[in-house]
Amino acid sequence: MIEQHEPTGDLAPDTLTVAAGRPPREHDSPVNTPIVLSSTFHETRTPEAGDRVYARGSNPTWDPFEEALGVLEGSDLPALVFGSGLGAAAAALSLVPTGGAVVMPNHAYAGSLMLAADLAAQGRFELHTVDIADTPSVLARLEALAARFSRGALMLWLESPTNPMLEVAELAVLTEAAHATGALVVADNTFNTPLVHRPLESGVDVVLHSVTKWLAGHSDVVLGALVTRDPEPRARLLAHRTLHGAIAGPFEVWLALRGLRTLALRVERSQTTAGILARRLTGHPAVRRVRYPGLPQDPGHERAAAQFEGFGGIISIELDDVATADALVAAVRLWLPATSLGGVESLIERRRRQPAEPSTVPEHLVRLSVGIENVEDLWADLDRALRSAQAS
Ligand SMILES: *Cc1c(COP(=O)(O)O)cnc(C)c1O
Repeated sequence: MIEQHEPTGDLAPDTLTVAAGRPPREHDSPVNTPIVLSSTFHETRTPEAGDRVYARGSNPTWDPFEEALGVLEGSDLPALVFGSGLGAAAAALSLVPTGGAVVMPNHAYAGSLMLAADLAAQGRFELHTVDIADTPSVLARLEALAARFSRGALMLWLESPTNPMLEVAELAVLTEAAHATGALVVADNTFNTPLVHRPLESGVDVVLHSVTKWLAGHSDVVLGALVTRDPEPRARLLAHRTLHGAIAGPFEVWLALRGLRTLALRVERSQTTAGILARRLTGHPAVRRVRYPGLPQDPGHERAAAQFEGFGGIISIELDDVATADALVAAVRLWLPATSLGGVESLIERRRRQPAEPSTVPEHLVRLSVGIENVEDLWADLDRALRSAQAS
């Protein structure tokens, strides 16, 4: 069984990223959990509930990461790690009863939308997409669905800020309204990380992470995780993981925990740099619009300032047209032209290059994932590439 190895009670989140999930303090024992490469475990007696038995169910290398992420998100229960963020999303969606309904942001992560649409097409549930920043319309949709569905048949899926439009939802208001209809609330907290926002504290039932992004932070693993405070859905999510088998490899989880140790430094640096770049981009002759909740004029600014402890490391910019956007991505030399986000290296991508991206995302929108390089080097490369793209 998983035990809390250290007192974590009143420690600040940036301390927890370092202190949580350590092996017991025993003389000569390692301070880091070793990578356990074993598919099976000695069984010298009949197994009891919680015994390891077989590594599709649990692995000692998962424990410290699950313990640390659970504590960071404000749960007494360990997180559940999955083989990918979408593996975790599939488990979360399995909590919707057949014949129920799911309400999702129209600009949720494209993969989550595709997965939910696929399940809806198979008749598992109805899928309703909403503008998650438009609180009255989301409330009206929940009310209309509550009139048609029994309690417990609905799920509200939150993602805020959205990807890549960076719209900010009123998480606590929507969660309370969803709970009033008996809905279960899931929040994809990938963009914020638990250092910037902890959705369980707003009453959200299940928190989802693509660990691939900020938590692991080095663009070298694909992993996902779910966190809940409630043992009942956690038992169902654990059963889903074990039976569907979308499990994580021990080495990848070890890398994710290693990455988590520096999360606070990385997020602080990325956020600071993103704020500086967003302000400079706002005045740039080649940039039509900057989306970044940290800018005072951004539509999500007030909500983000009220709810979050920071504005994140993702900026979206709109250029004159697709050709200029593509020319920008082709002209950068330091920024890496690649999808994904949340790594130490800064990435740039015109999102609509991905066929799955919703058509309501502007074609000329470029998403920037700000890494930890020197801000002046990042700016010099971006500014030069923007000027050359506009001239081309
Ligand atoms: C990447 C991402 C996912 C999917 O996670 P994978 O690890 O790629 O499966 C889900 N949500 C958000 C917000 C993401 O950025």
